[in-house]
Amino acid sequence: MGNDVSTKTADSLRPQFWERFALAELKHSEWEALCDGCGSCCLIKYIDEDEQGNVDEELVEYTDVTCKLMDCATGYCRHYESRQEYVPDCIQLTIENLPDMMWLPAHCAYKRLYKGQSLPAWHLLLTKDAVATQQQMRAANVGVAGRCVSETGMSDEEMEMRVVTWVTP
Ligand code: SF4
Ligand code: SF4
Repeated sequence: MGNDVSTKTADSLRPQFWERFALAELKHSEWEALCDGCGSCCLIKYIDEDEQGNVDEELVEYTDVTCKLMDCATGYCRHYESRQEYVPDCIQLTIENLPDMMWLPAHCAYKRLYKGQSLPAWHLLLTKDAVATQQQMRAANVGVAGRCVSETGMSDEEMEMRVVTWVTP
């Protein structure tokens, strides 16, 4: 979530692991490699749940306001490895809590694979070229880099005025 994935090595990844294995069978490095670093999950959002606690995806609204630890210029968490020291409620995305996180954006690889969909065409695992992936993500209007603002000092009222349509669940 919001981490810089461009420097990850492919050494420990099994070929086409995302097609050949269920999410529950992935190694830690494979699980981590699914994140495209878009940072969208670090945005503040308004989530509606039904009585059973299921997320109503159609009612999720994202703002362009991020968690205080986000570097809004790069789109990466400023202290990803030690983030829970700074933001204790930063959600660790796991196979166990993924079903409750259907508020994730539609392009998110975890959500897509959970739903039986393919990786987005621009995913680093497919292009194997970080620059090409960055360019294609930009063209697909994906990612928070350069267009988010920090929650620091922002009131609830101001935040409510900042709902955006460039992230959809
Ligand atoms: S939305 Fe998904 S792909 Fe994007 S940073 Fe969060 S976990 Fe990673
Ligand atoms: S601490 Fe904040 S910026 Fe960092 S990964 Fe968690 S939500 Fe994103």
